[in-house]
Amino acid sequence: MVRDKIPDADLTIYYTDVRAFGKGFEEFYNRVKGENVNYRRRELDDPIKVEQKGAKAVVKAKGHPDIEADLVVLAAGLVPRNDSKEIARILNINQSADGFFLEAHPKLRPVDTFTDGIFLAGCCQSPKDVPDTVAQASGAASRATDILSKKKLEIEATIATVNEELCRGCGFCVEVCPYKAIELVEKDRFGHKVLVAEVNEALCKGCGSCAAACLNQAIGHLGFTDGQILSMIKVLGEK
Ligand code: SF4
Ligand code: SF4
Repeated sequence: MVRDKIPDADLTIYYTDVRAFGKGFEEFYNRVKGENVNYRRRELDDPIKVEQKGAKAVVKAKGHPDIEADLVVLAAGLVPRNDSKEIARILNINQSADGFFLEAHPKLRPVDTFTDGIFLAGCCQSPKDVPDTVAQASGAASRATDILSKKKLEIEATIATVNEELCRGCGFCVEVCPYKAIELVEKDRFGHKVLVAEVNEALCKGCGSCAAACLNQAIGHLGFTDGQILSMIKVLGEK
């Protein structure tokens, strides 16, 4: 862009690695190199110093002559926003190890999150350029429209169910549910107020974490009760 606006400018780019991965980017990179732009490779461990000298800035990089520059542009790495952890907590979505929001599957569900109805687009998921952001945003809008355009939504069939007579309201299941699909509610039992777990059927994914955590064996899954599973194992054993 500088070459475009100031054709006779001296341009130097310090780099460690250049990855021109997008459509037409390699051609762009080669064209710029052919337009008298100096590319100077440096090791990542070698610091670049920018010092002031009068009205100019002096760029010092190991292995290269110093440059007196009118303008120095720093290309800093992208990191997630400071409040991304709080947003992830509010929306109940996951973050990858580097702090960006995590998609449900990098190839098959790249705009979905593990929370139904929440989709990702842009640099909240990872650093990306404008065309990739627009493409991803179009995909996310399309996925949201798919949900909103339906009169009825299908939910998981094998959801958790609570046997209220066995539930002692300890809340272990609430803590382990990754989808925030269980809460403790107050119910009247023989004239006394007691807390029991209640499953939100629209949110439950049938993962089984709650059933594993319940010490009272008060949670089962529709279509997957212990008796049904044991019957299936028995039939398999007979074959
Ligand atoms: S873990 Fe079991 S006993 Fe405890 S609240 Fe949940 S269903 Fe009830
Ligand atoms: S089966 Fe999984 S998603 Fe459903 S309530 Fe239990 S822990 Fe939550």
